[in-house]
Amino acid sequence: MTSIAPLPSASLLNVLQQVLGTPAAPMSLHEPEFAGNEWQYVKECLDTGWVSSVGKYVDTFERRIAEITGARHAVAVVNGTAALHMALLVADVKPGDEVIVPALSFVGTANAVAHAGAHPHFADSEANSLGLDAHALRAHLSHIGERSANGWRNRVTGRRIAAMVPMHAFGHPCDMDALCAVAHDFGIPLIEDAAESLGSRWRGRHTGTFGSLGIFSFNGNKIVTTGGGGAIVTNNETLARHAKHLTTTAKLPHRWAFVHDEVGYNYRLPNLNAALGCAQLERLDGFVARKRQLAVRYRDALRSHASTWAYVDEPEGSHSNFWLVAVRLQTPDAATRDATLATVNDAGYNCRPVWTLLNDLPMFRDAPCAELPVARAIEASLINLPSSPRLV
Ligand SMILES: *Cc1c(COP(=O)(O)O)cnc(C)c1O
Repeated sequence: MTSIAPLPSASLLNVLQQVLGTPAAPMSLHEPEFAGNEWQYVKECLDTGWVSSVGKYVDTFERRIAEITGARHAVAVVNGTAALHMALLVADVKPGDEVIVPALSFVGTANAVAHAGAHPHFADSEANSLGLDAHALRAHLSHIGERSANGWRNRVTGRRIAAMVPMHAFGHPCDMDALCAVAHDFGIPLIEDAAESLGSRWRGRHTGTFGSLGIFSFNGNKIVTTGGGGAIVTNNETLARHAKHLTTTAKLPHRWAFVHDEVGYNYRLPNLNAALGCAQLERLDGFVARKRQLAVRYRDALRSHASTWAYVDEPEGSHSNFWLVAVRLQTPDAATRDATLATVNDAGYNCRPVWTLLNDLPMFRDAPCAELPVARAIEASLINLPSSPRLV
């Protein structure tokens, strides 16, 4: 008997049906769940009038983020992009500098660099973690750069490389041992874009706490949401104080006088949003546990389709929050990926490709860029599957 391999699209549809059943209504990629104290805490803000920039929930939220991540300090802000913008400023990234970011990331990573007046410099990813490839980055930095009085300098553009921003894609931690070693050897400050990885650990330590600063996002689609929101974490008290100061209009404390000592930002997280976040954080462990369970179901269902689809597992040495489950075509091919996306979306499963590589976007087309063979292959092969905790 001859057997004909099913189309990749039919294979993935089969996996989705097996794990999720047949959707009565379109099944979203990720949706929030408010089944804890969300209504109570938000109502309390409305009842007491503490809805805006002052209130106990902002302090509680910051304290809880610090406790959960193990960072000494946390500063809550309006969104993850603002958090990264502020982290870059307090890490002393100046206009005209360059910042290493993965080409394979959400646009917010590179936008924050541009907001700081600096230039993103795109680097390749690693197939295993989907995050910055430390070995390729080391070779690239040696090749294009040289040591200068104020740090590592890009010899081609003449600009200082002021920071590197690894991003933990879909919750899977990057190889932080190797990336910290690169940061150390080249004297480049490390800031983690941990927007997607609340609840994820690398060798037991929470993502976002390896560099000088880390950031999280609490947008509606993240594992925990404040409606919109973000946080900066750091172990350095001076950086934490500066971040709080900058995000609260740089106002000097005084009983009545309005004196501001630098150009600040109105980036403070409102109490109303923090209240929602406090209730969500109480449920973080449960969200992570259910998402990990869902990931295992996908993994098992994908076993019999292994010649076509590879399951993206958590890297060895890490504990991932599996924010979004991802699969990859064994043979990267954008046309097959798109045909699959059409099939599964038509069937009511809201699946998505990975982001368009940032160096291909019009505003970043002229930015410095390393060779990107792995990021290109991931781009042409990866699909995210519905990953809401309620699906378990
Ligand atoms: C969500 C996200 C951000 C930005 O967060 P916002 O709160 O939407 O501004 C930044 N980087 C990555 C990788 C993200 O996924």
